[in-house]
Amino acid sequence: MTNNWETIIGLEVHAQLSTESKIFCGCSTRFGDEPNSNTCPVCLGLPGALPVLNWRAVELGARAALALGLHIQERSIFARKNYFYPDLPKGYQISQYDRPFSANGILEIMTAERDEAGHARDWRPLTVRITRLHLEEDAGKNVHEGLPDVDRFSYVDLNRAGTPLAEIVTEPDFRSSWEAYDYVNHVRRALQWVGASEADMEKGNLRCEANVSVRQRGETAFGTKVELKNLNSVRFMQRAIEFEVERHIKTLESGGRLTQETRLWDERAGETRVMRSKEEAHDYRYFPEPDLPPLVVTNEFIDKVSKSLPELPDARRKRFSEQYGLSFADASQLTAERTLADYYESAVEASGGNARATANWIRSELLRELENAGLTAEKSPIPAVELGALVRMIGEGKISGKQGKDVLVEMFATGKSAGAIVEERGLVQVSDTGEIDRIIDEIIAANPNQLGQYRSGKEALFGFFVGQIMKASKGKANPKIVNERLKEKLIPPQ
Ligand code: ADP
Ligand code: ZN
Ligand code: MG
Repeated sequence: MTNNWETIIGLEVHAQLSTESKIFCGCSTRFGDEPNSNTCPVCLGLPGALPVLNWRAVELGARAALALGLHIQERSIFARKNYFYPDLPKGYQISQYDRPFSANGILEIMTAERDEAGHARDWRPLTVRITRLHLEEDAGKNVHEGLPDVDRFSYVDLNRAGTPLAEIVTEPDFRSSWEAYDYVNHVRRALQWVGASEADMEKGNLRCEANVSVRQRGETAFGTKVELKNLNSVRFMQRAIEFEVERHIKTLESGGRLTQETRLWDERAGETRVMRSKEEAHDYRYFPEPDLPPLVVTNEFIDKVSKSLPELPDARRKRFSEQYGLSFADASQLTAERTLADYYESAVEASGGNARATANWIRSELLRELENAGLTAEKSPIPAVELGALVRMIGEGKISGKQGKDVLVEMFATGKSAGAIVEERGLVQVSDTGEIDRIIDEIIAANPNQLGQYRSGKEALFGFFVGQIMKASKGKANPKIVNERLKEKLIPPQ
């Protein structure tokens, strides 16, 4: 009975904080430099080298915590997490353990299940308990070349070693893969929004591990959990969880047993594979880092960071709904990124306050063009004020909506203003009723047969007249006015 199973998920997110230099030394965090060029005795783990905390990492960690509504502890302690790995030259990672930067937080997100086509419906709030957010250093990178067992070479690049990370761990509070999906997107957007992290999973500066188990509904004890890694996008994570849940249920229903282990998602094969079992798990022998003092943050510091934060995404989404009359889905889409939200508000202003129409033009036309070109709103070839100007022209009836679509495509391709394109193409729509009446009268006079048929009941001929009038006006007559005037004139005088 598959529907008697309940899914339990807990998430661990590592976000690279966007500092220019590493967390305990002055080396650059730049990506893509010559391997091992951004290193020094501290991040190489040479004997006697001492770490010095980069305060910018604390500031960005604080921005991340506050963007998620978390409380920052006045005093936290760095600790050594001991394990051996070639990309960890010290033999330990400086992290935080029993006194993390932030603990026991509560986060409210919005979530929805998705239908077959991937459309979200019935958005609802979900409360997630955040176990902790702590600061730590990243390890380096092992690079392997050649096939396993044949000509295999392994290299170590320590440029990444010592890059600051915020690790965010949740309680096992998610009950479906889509809840997990919405959570990671929420975190990603929040961190990007406040500039704490680029939070791009494809670039690896946001990494996510999903812990998954199932249990019979009504059961209070948790089942055996599996940790999923190698999740390179939020969608991959969602698929990996789905696969894993199904595997757990199948195994248990056929009388099998699950092992606590770490598994890797293989997107191409669409399945997870064992990486290591928990029997090989490390005992990290955490102890307080003797080379660093406790991290103490004052209320003044937190106040200062708080005040420097922009309006946060959820607050802005709520304001968009209230101030601009947008639906939840529309407001969500327009606050998916801060640059898009900024773009929208500038465009609304330039449109003369036409908030709904601006939202529609961005959502249906501009975002499609941006997506095709692989661009974000920030890089849009159509500046926000120009999009607003286009919406205004359409609102004022200067050009039709249909013409507007063509103009937008040309604006996007050429970077020209709406006004310039409309002028060049001679598009200006005729809304002058006197002018339109004159054309209508001409067309009616020139088609007495059709007029007779229409008046004796052949109403389909209305379209014929509209077509003739639009043709005579070279497509410039305002169709709404043509319809109104034509209706009046075709009715026989009583
Ligand atoms: P570990 O020591 O294996 O890392 P933790 O207890 O620290 O395990 O939990 C790590 C993550 O796994 C947390 O996000 C937690 O919420 C989640 N988790 C713990 N137990 C379960 C379970 N039975 N099912 C799903 N997730 C779980
Ligand atoms: Zn260094
Ligand atoms: Mg873990």
